[in-house]
Amino acid sequence: MEKISVIVSCYNEEESLPLFYEEMERVRKADFENETEFEYIFVNDGSKDKTLEVMKKLAKEDSKVRFISFSRNFGKESAMLAGLEAAEGDYITLMDADLQDPPALLREMYDTIKKEGYDQVGTRRVTRKGEPPIRSFFARMFYKLINKMSNVEMVDGARDYRLMTRQVVDSIISMKEYNRFSKGLFSFVGYKTKWLEYENVERVAGETKWSFWKLFKYAIEGITAFSTVPLVISSVIGLLFCLISFLLIILIIIKTLVLGDPTSGWPSMICIIFFVSGIQLFSLGVIGQYLAKTYLEIKQRPIYIIKETEKDI
Ligand code: UDP
Ligand code: MG
Repeated sequence: MEKISVIVSCYNEEESLPLFYEEMERVRKADFENETEFEYIFVNDGSKDKTLEVMKKLAKEDSKVRFISFSRNFGKESAMLAGLEAAEGDYITLMDADLQDPPALLREMYDTIKKEGYDQVGTRRVTRKGEPPIRSFFARMFYKLINKMSNVEMVDGARDYRLMTRQVVDSIISMKEYNRFSKGLFSFVGYKTKWLEYENVERVAGETKWSFWKLFKYAIEGITAFSTVPLVISSVIGLLFCLISFLLIILIIIKTLVLGDPTSGWPSMICIIFFVSGIQLFSLGVIGQYLAKTYLEIKQRPIYIIKETEKDI
């Protein structure tokens, strides 16, 4: 029998996880019973609440449940990688613990791969209902920007919820980079992908771990991971300014020769100095971003550290 691995990354989800498990089991029994095997891999991403206890309890009661517990919070990207590396199934799905990724879609996703010959099925939400409007605005801007700047296509509203074949997952885990931006990685590997659309669902319990600042940093991460266009922009601005200053120098020389040299223009001079040094700092910052990422990659630190798994209980 073929096996589906369900990977769920959890950070402070003591309330949501039991609800998730219940709903997932309901869907499994209703749609997949006697047809496919299942394994659940819960990844505890250094939760500060009782998430790990919940996982241990579920693992004791149900042999389908496995868990991986990190030594601290490494972030969702690391948790997803740990799950993908541990998964043994022929089909692998990634889900959130908060039921924002409805397990009920799984059957349709599975059929799409089995019957229509796709390699991965992604999901995207068509509405951003229940999200602060300012956040939706910046999210849209981000997707517009990154798609202009990168060859890898990023789909607006795409969630991490997806079902993949073993082959796709093997390709994804073959990419060992430290700065992981999954939305890009899933699309980078290619394969035939179908997108299912659904309305945004609000979380069942707990609250979102994404602050505006975290999202901003995530956006910068995505841009530096999948595009070098910012470096080109710095170079172009630099070149443009060289050109302008060259023209201005010629203009000033001619003006001095014709009209003499009355000293004036102090305020405009200061403005120009500020402007140009601002642009220099900005460009240095852009270069610094890439350098920092390179530095982190080169250190080759582990992407996550496992403290215990279901084998330890
Ligand atoms: N998550 C995680 N590590 C983190 C932050 C979040 O594993 O550092 C998990 C979280 O438990 C949830 C999923 O990632 O299962 C999505 O998080 P959240 O619901 O906060 O994000 P949103 O749905 O608002 O994008
Ligand atoms: Mg959520």
